[in-house]
Amino acid sequence: MSTTKLYQNQVYTKEFTANVTSVNISEDSTTVTLDQTAFFPEGGGQSCDLGVIGKWKVADVREVGEDVYHTIETTDSSDMPSVGAQLPCSIDWERRFDNMQRHCGEHILSGVFFDLYGGVNRGFHMGTDYMTIDISLEEQPEIEEITYEMALEAEAAANKVIWSDSPVTVLRFDSRKDAEKMPLRKALAFDEDISIVCVGSAENAADCVACCGTHPSTAGQVGLLKTYKVEKYKGMFRIYFEAGQRALKDYGLKHDILTDLSNDYSSSIDDFPSKLKLQEEKLAAVKNDLFQMKKALTKIECDKLDGIIAASDSKVLVHSLEHFSMDDAFNMGKNYMGKCKQLIMLFSEKDCSYILLSDGTVDCGSLVKEYASFYHGKGGGNKISARAIFDREENATLFSDLVQKHLR
Ligand SMILES: [Zn+2]
Repeated sequence: MSTTKLYQNQVYTKEFTANVTSVNISEDSTTVTLDQTAFFPEGGGQSCDLGVIGKWKVADVREVGEDVYHTIETTDSSDMPSVGAQLPCSIDWERRFDNMQRHCGEHILSGVFFDLYGGVNRGFHMGTDYMTIDISLEEQPEIEEITYEMALEAEAAANKVIWSDSPVTVLRFDSRKDAEKMPLRKALAFDEDISIVCVGSAENAADCVACCGTHPSTAGQVGLLKTYKVEKYKGMFRIYFEAGQRALKDYGLKHDILTDLSNDYSSSIDDFPSKLKLQEEKLAAVKNDLFQMKKALTKIECDKLDGIIAASDSKVLVHSLEHFSMDDAFNMGKNYMGKCKQLIMLFSEKDCSYILLSDGTVDCGSLVKEYASFYHGKGGGNKISARAIFDREENATLFSDLVQKHLR
């Protein structure tokens, strides 16, 4: 016995009573069929309904042949619905209405892209995080691309359709011949039992296409549609958009982020871009000042180190740098890399790390590899330069002492 599909003709049914017609138990799932169901099975890019059948939660719904199989969250054979039982059922209406708004938004936007640019919807993704349509211009070679501005024009036209509150009707046809009398946006893929969804009248349809999904009865219930990104995708154009309560939530989220950022900059939202630009300019000036000061400081430190090197006959020379990061110390060390006769160990107090430099007579990389790990140090390098990073200064000093002892 096939399942009567309430979601086809009574799309607003949230609660219903049904008789269990079969219970199918496997090792990891239990599926139930009913004489009638409002649970929409996954299809046409729209995800399935969730909800409850009796006391059992519904985890998945699929259509196989003429039947709809509901996967329920139990595999305990002593806790199953029985065949013939009459059970109260309800679907998660918030999820369903969200799906209906988004899915109908997709119809309207696809219809508009077709109408404005001759773009054909060749792919649809309605995921948890985002929704996209892939528009192909293959039938409209005089238009080379869909720009973001064109997508915004489509968005404006789609919202006009939504606010016109046109009826959304589902018409069922037994044959392809009859269905093809409708002003279809896409060629039919089936020969019989065809559902055609039409936004607006057949004479002046905003969209008209074969579809098995669930839709609100009027376009106005979609509420709002927002496109926010266009990217090239496999020779087509992928349009990112949101519709319905999701578009409102997205507006709220972005408004909150922008309000927080504007407050941080003591600015109104309108003035925020110019305030941010001003801050960027100030930051660039500070970065430039810092670069010049580091350059001058490096020169002073190099002069100081040159004097120490000249006066020293030790095999190892340890020099501490108070205000230098490890990278700064490394850049300063480039002046000595491969040239210095003794091993130079530059210590960055800021990053608790050593930069080792030599002319290659002493292998800096091997010293770090051999000794740094004794004192929880990490790092590495080559013959003429290496770095060793420590968790605390005490360990860095122990490493330095060991290297000096080794080379003495
Ligand atoms: Zn549809």
